[in-house]
Formats: sequence, C-alpha cells, structure tokens
Amino acid sequence: MARLRTPAVANSAAVPVAPLVRGPARVVVTGGAGFIGSHLVEELLARGHAVHVVDDLSTGRIDNLAAVAARPSLRVTIASVTEPAVAARICADADLVFHLAGVVGVRRLANEPLFVMQQNLHVTECMLQAAAAAHVPILVTSSSEVYGDGRVPFVEDDPIRPGATEGLRGGYACAKAMGEWLAFGHAEQSGLRVVVARLFNTVGPRQTGDHGMVLPRFLRQALRGEPITVYGEGAQTRCFAHVGDVVRALADLSTAPGAVGRVFNVGSDLETSVLALAELVRERTGSRSPIVRVPFDDVFPPGFVDPVRRVPSLARLRAAIGWAPSLPVAAIVDQLVASLRAELGAVQVATN
Ligand code: UDP
Repeated sequence: MARLRTPAVANSAAVPVAPLVRGPARVVVTGGAGFIGSHLVEELLARGHAVHVVDDLSTGRIDNLAAVAARPSLRVTIASVTEPAVAARICADADLVFHLAGVVGVRRLANEPLFVMQQNLHVTECMLQAAAAAHVPILVTSSSEVYGDGRVPFVEDDPIRPGATEGLRGGYACAKAMGEWLAFGHAEQSGLRVVVARLFNTVGPRQTGDHGMVLPRFLRQALRGEPITVYGEGAQTRCFAHVGDVVRALADLSTAPGAVGRVFNVGSDLETSVLALAELVRERTGSRSPIVRVPFDDVFPPGFVDPVRRVPSLARLRAAIGWAPSLPVAAIVDQLVASLRAELGAVQVATN
C-alpha cells in the first residue's frame, strides 16, 4: 500500500507560493479565437503580455480577434494542440499557458456525445503533457458541470457529481474533471505548476447560441420576434457572469500568490431562473415574442439531466484575488441588446 501523505497540490496559507507568472510574459492561449478565449487575449494584451493564440477554429472564429489583429504582440497559429509537434512548439517559447481549447455546448454534447467527451479529454491531456515536458506553468479551464446536480453553493473541494453513465451529460463533466486530475497528477509527478479554473455560465459579446447557451438564444429569438424557448418549467437557475469579469479573474489568478495547485470557481453567484431570464430578455428588448415551454424530453436525450440550480461559492476566489462580479444579469442584457441593435442597424445600412 502506498504511503499516505499530503498532496503536493494542497497549499497551506502559511507557505507563500510564487504565482504562475509575475509580470508581462510570453503567454499562450489555446482556444484563443473562441468566445471566452478572445476576450482573454484582449485582457492579456492590455496587461502588456505577448500573446500567442493557438486555435484550430473548430468552434472559434478568427473574426473574434478582429479588435486586436493588428497588435504586434499578438501571434496566431491555426492548428490543434492535439498534434504533439504543435503543442511542443508553442510551449518551447512560452512562460505561461492558458488552456481554454475544448468543445463546449450542451446541444453539442446531446448531439455528438462521443466527440465531445473524447476531444475534451484528449486536448487537455495533450496540452498538459507538452506543458509538463517544457516546464511551462499552466492555467487549465474546467467546468461547473463537474458539480452536476449537487447542493448549492458549490465549493471547490466538494466531491464531483457527474451522475449516471447512462445519462451522458456527466461524460463531459468527467472529461473536464479528469483534466483536472491529470493536471494535479503532473503537479505531483513532475512539479508542473498548475491552476484550475472552473468556469460557470459566462455571457457577453461574441457568444453564439449555436450549441446551447441560453442567453444568446433568447436574445436572438426576442429580436427576431420568434418564440422564446424555455426548457421545462424554467424554474432551473443559473448565475450569469460577464465575460469581461471572467477573463479578469483568469488573468488575476495567473499572478496571484497562493493560487498555484488549487481549483477556483470562476463565475457569478447572482442566481436567476431561466423563466426570469426569458421575461427579462423579452422586457429589455421590447419584444412581443411569446415565451413557450418546451419539454426537456423534446430537446435532450433520455436521462440527460439539466441541473436544477447552479451557484458557485466564491469565497476561495475572493480570498485569492478579491474578485466579485461587476454586472448583474439585467445590466449585461441591456449591454448586449444595445450592441446587437447597433450591429443590426449596421447590417441594415449596409444592405440598403
Ligand atoms: N435553456 C432554455 N432554453 C434554451 C436554451 C437553454 O431554457 O433555448 C436552459 C437550459 O435547459 C439550462 C439553462 O437554460 O437550464 C442554461 O443552458 P445553457 O445551455 O446556456 O448552459 P448550461 O447551464 O446548461 O450548461
């Protein structure tokens, strides 16, 4: 039987631990052309880092980087980090990796469960391997899905609750959780310096509703005058954080003393029901769209569990970086409605 000992990843408040990175550095962002990734790239450039985006554009879009495309300190490689040579090359001249690449979206998971499970595990496994070999510290993004339908608020050292294997949804949660375990395995065996961020529902400009993602779907439906589709009774809750707040937390975690070797919930703790969100969107868009209830069974495969409540404990994040969400969901909706209206206006002008 192996000896029992305190894992290398468990920090004690008494022992100061150096952050992943101290000042401006050469930073890789995998998935940097995605919704959250592209906002993180903007944040890191603004903080003076040189940023290398690696993205295979499977779900990301190069247009997401339009605002910073001309910046000399931005480099973009279109490739997959599942190719070992790519992962090794990007780590060779990096001081820090933010690993965001992955396949997200509940609809995608329902439609292509095998691809979603396998790809999420594989991409993280490959990136961790390369980071460990090159001794480059890494912040790995994981998901609030690991908490499944556990009791709220979710605390980082709660046991994970992915649910029954027949229910498929937990397969994504397990892939993300396995990524966390692999990260800590590398930390233990080779001294890799890791931080894990579990992202909760994140919203903001450039998010598409193509693979689920309730808020962009509701906004699109409302602005087009189509029915707003609430799944089930709409009593299920989520907490929506603005992507700008989320990337600020990720960047802050990379420079936070004591964050290394730990898991952090990153997201808002301001809870909203899905029905309240639908009503809010309808009101703030001035839409006449009807709000319709769609039975879960019509949209999800059998046994696919939609968590009833999802609320993070933010105590650990607050202690590490003093973070709090800056925008309630109503303010986020107003901001998104204004920018979507401006886009819509621009399209109409362009096509007149
Ligand atoms: N949802 C909904 N209508 C939609 C899309 C989603 O009612 O058109 C619900 C979904 O069932 C879930 C919540 O909105 O309870 C958030 O869904 P999303 O796919 O954005 O993220 P999740 O929190 O499920 O990962």
